[in-house]
Amino acid sequence: MPSFPDIVVRDALIADGSGGPLAAGDVAIGDGLILSAGPEAVPAGPATAELDARGSLVCAPGFIDVHTHDDAALIRHPGLEFKIAQGCTSLVIGNCGFSGFPATGVDDIESVAGADWPDLDGYRAAVTAGGFACNAIALVGHNTIRSIVIGRDESRPARPAEIAVMRDHVRRAMEQGACGLSTGLIYTPGKWAPAEEIIELAAAAAEAGGLYVSHIRNEGDRLLESVAEAIGIGAESGCPVHISHHKAGGRQNWGKVAGSLAAIDAANAGGADVTLDFYPYTASSGPMAEYVSPETVDAEWAELNQFATCPPFPAYQGRRVSAVAADEGLALPDLVRRVLTAPGGRRTISIGFGMSEGDLVTNVRHPLMMIGSDGIPDLDGLPHPRLYGTFPRVFAEYVRNRAEISVGEAVRRMTSLAADRFGLPGRGRLVPGAHADVVVFDPATIRDVATFADPKREPDGVRWVIVNGVLAVDGGRHTGARAGRMLSSGAADVG
Ligand SMILES: [Zn+2]
Repeated sequence: MPSFPDIVVRDALIADGSGGPLAAGDVAIGDGLILSAGPEAVPAGPATAELDARGSLVCAPGFIDVHTHDDAALIRHPGLEFKIAQGCTSLVIGNCGFSGFPATGVDDIESVAGADWPDLDGYRAAVTAGGFACNAIALVGHNTIRSIVIGRDESRPARPAEIAVMRDHVRRAMEQGACGLSTGLIYTPGKWAPAEEIIELAAAAAEAGGLYVSHIRNEGDRLLESVAEAIGIGAESGCPVHISHHKAGGRQNWGKVAGSLAAIDAANAGGADVTLDFYPYTASSGPMAEYVSPETVDAEWAELNQFATCPPFPAYQGRRVSAVAADEGLALPDLVRRVLTAPGGRRTISIGFGMSEGDLVTNVRHPLMMIGSDGIPDLDGLPHPRLYGTFPRVFAEYVRNRAEISVGEAVRRMTSLAADRFGLPGRGRLVPGAHADVVVFDPATIRDVATFADPKREPDGVRWVIVNGVLAVDGGRHTGARAGRMLSSGAADVG
């Protein structure tokens, strides 16, 4: 009996993930795997779904979002429409030092109400029960384990006995399939950790083949020193390093990303192993309480920052802090105090307009630069548009409008480069035997539609998305499929 593929993408421009030129051909999918991808025409059976790419649509491996905060979203928003609609099929969770596990009631940005699981296996069991749309692989977060082991408000280095307990958390996470350790050294409580503490934990990740992924200590005036610290942590611990959302904030620092990339190139030439990611926007976003207090707020900050999510005062969402203060007749310190001390106020997320377009171009040109949305999936507010727009925006802005990189190279950054780095063998390439994570998009029209004023809008130009051989987007429409899997680092099959 002849066996036919489940799905054939017919007459596509194949971007196989290698970064090479696109090649015309068919992509055949069966039993959740890529059967073939190339010029030979694939026969279809009566039950085969044929997707007609008409010679003009690109068929690529599904995109890998290497910087997400979707730990809680796998439970709260399991359809992950904001990622699936961009063509993302795998997500790296647990970034910036915050992971959804271990969870023992600590209230941080990745925490899930009522969550109580001691480790990655517990988290995996909880998220897998309901199903979710994208694959996910986890980092274990330093801020999360430090909060549990030492306490969120202990502003001191860890003691040796505490480091030993944190190291056990890292080892256990690695045994259970994590791909590395993340830090967020700007945030509480990670900011109180000296490099020596992190070296001990990164060494535990390195023993198990993991990665050290860092939101570095400073992304503005001390960018270069902070990149040097991350490189040094890698050298001392023996752990490969990945620098998250590489950027230079503050007008006086614009242009510095060229210097930090040069430092990374020099380190790599000397035997280090450092990679990066960025998102294609000149605004950043995060928990407002981490950036400003009644004591530190000033007019410039209030002018450059707006409310994204503000649980106690939803009417502030989407508005500049300075404008809200004027409307409310409040001095800036009084407004910040009102927001941060109200019930739920510490969950306020702000957006800051502080980066330069030139630095985004410098970033996208670097061959080790992956794409990470850093999207914060708080759908009650007006989130940074990167949540919905990051991947299509790279094509619209840096492939099409500015011609900085080719379609094939953009696809490589979003697929094989990320899969190799974050321990996802069998993904990131359209080759026979690979898992069938696939996106089909129109290179002439793919674009982000989400804006800062209207951020919860799905992009244009993404036609079909397939996760583990199952259609998640069919002709631009969500199917509601929950075919994602919780993956284990380095495991060729599913975790
Ligand atoms: Zn971060």
